[in-house]
Amino acid sequence: MEHHINDLLSFLDEGPTPFNASAAITRRLDKAGFTRIREQDAWQLKPGGRYYLVRGETAVMAFIIGSEPLAQSGFQIAASHIDSPSLKIKGASQKNVANTSKVGVEVYGGPIVHTWLDRELGLAGKVMVQDGQELKTHLVNVAEPVAIIPNAAIHMNRDLNKGFQYNPQMHLTAILATGSDEEKPVKAIVAKELNIDVEQIVDCELYFYDLAKATRLGLDKSMISSGRLDNLAMTHAILTSLISAKQPQSTCVAAFFDHEEIGSTTLQGADSSFLDIILKRISAQMKATPEDHFRALSQSFMISADMAHALHPSYMEKYDPDYSPLINKGPTIKINSNHRYASTASSNQRFIRLCNEAKVEYQKFMVRSDMPCGSTVGPRVSALLGIPTIDIGNPMWAMHSVREVCGTKDHIDLIKVLNKYYR
Ligand code: ZN
Repeated sequence: MEHHINDLLSFLDEGPTPFNASAAITRRLDKAGFTRIREQDAWQLKPGGRYYLVRGETAVMAFIIGSEPLAQSGFQIAASHIDSPSLKIKGASQKNVANTSKVGVEVYGGPIVHTWLDRELGLAGKVMVQDGQELKTHLVNVAEPVAIIPNAAIHMNRDLNKGFQYNPQMHLTAILATGSDEEKPVKAIVAKELNIDVEQIVDCELYFYDLAKATRLGLDKSMISSGRLDNLAMTHAILTSLISAKQPQSTCVAAFFDHEEIGSTTLQGADSSFLDIILKRISAQMKATPEDHFRALSQSFMISADMAHALHPSYMEKYDPDYSPLINKGPTIKINSNHRYASTASSNQRFIRLCNEAKVEYQKFMVRSDMPCGSTVGPRVSALLGIPTIDIGNPMWAMHSVREVCGTKDHIDLIKVLNKYYR
């Protein structure tokens, strides 16, 4: 199973933005013999067939048609999100000031902002290129230290360690060069990377990212340190299990949504028509009647996998002592009576049964009763489709830091559980 950790590390490095993460997913699906289909085409799906499609150039839906009729066995769904908090480049804000070329950013989602400073930053994302008469979309990943967001010296800001609120407009602009008279340095870097002329670039969606590679960590190498563990780690676990599923009886679906960090109500977010439409089309292709489709939904189940908060030994007071998951002690069921998580006693039992079959320990997380609770894609999709759902995730530290930490054993254990789910 150790090869799964190696693949996770490269998956994390391949996906600095949702555009790149999406490509990392589809590369693996292509390699595993899944057929790419498109929403605009007429489908010809076959029982036993393995398919995937992409919406909005990021979200991916992959599925294997099961051997049993849908109305009998329903859909076995696992879902995650592929976006992470980050800094998006505001292209038109490039300026030469005080002998530096600088560019502003917009904060995407809720990062721990200070972790992004004083880091060597690469940039990646999507570029629209005019190629003769054609407008083409290119992925780009400039994996070189091309920018930095420097802190003020401690001498200029003596209170920095007391907690400083960075103003995103003023304090998070990135320095790209010194003494340069290049008017559009970001476009110039991208054009060089793609081997095109700057004038061919019509528009971009580019993000900075921390260049430090994902790595094993600790004396015993039992941890992983990386950006974007939330939620590429869960995405990788689901993807790995779906790919290894052999001729499942029920139809297995993996839904990798974008835009969870900003509320999911977008074209390719969890609060969209994406999953609903795909399930309906699969049913229609399998000659299931509308009645069969609704019967199938009521037989279906969803595992919503998003990273969980591990007990942090330096902040024990922030956790409910009875519901504090530990790193490398197993996948964690996330529970909240206000349904910020979709888990119920019944959906939990289905997951616990899978853990028992896989001989994997599991844990439970509930937030302290005097603290607000986070949420994820589970409750929304469950409500939209009427599918019983459990919210789970592997425990981690420093969620939304530019470097997050999780456990290697938990990752392998969750793959074992999902292998039972998708069999
Ligand atoms: Zn998440």
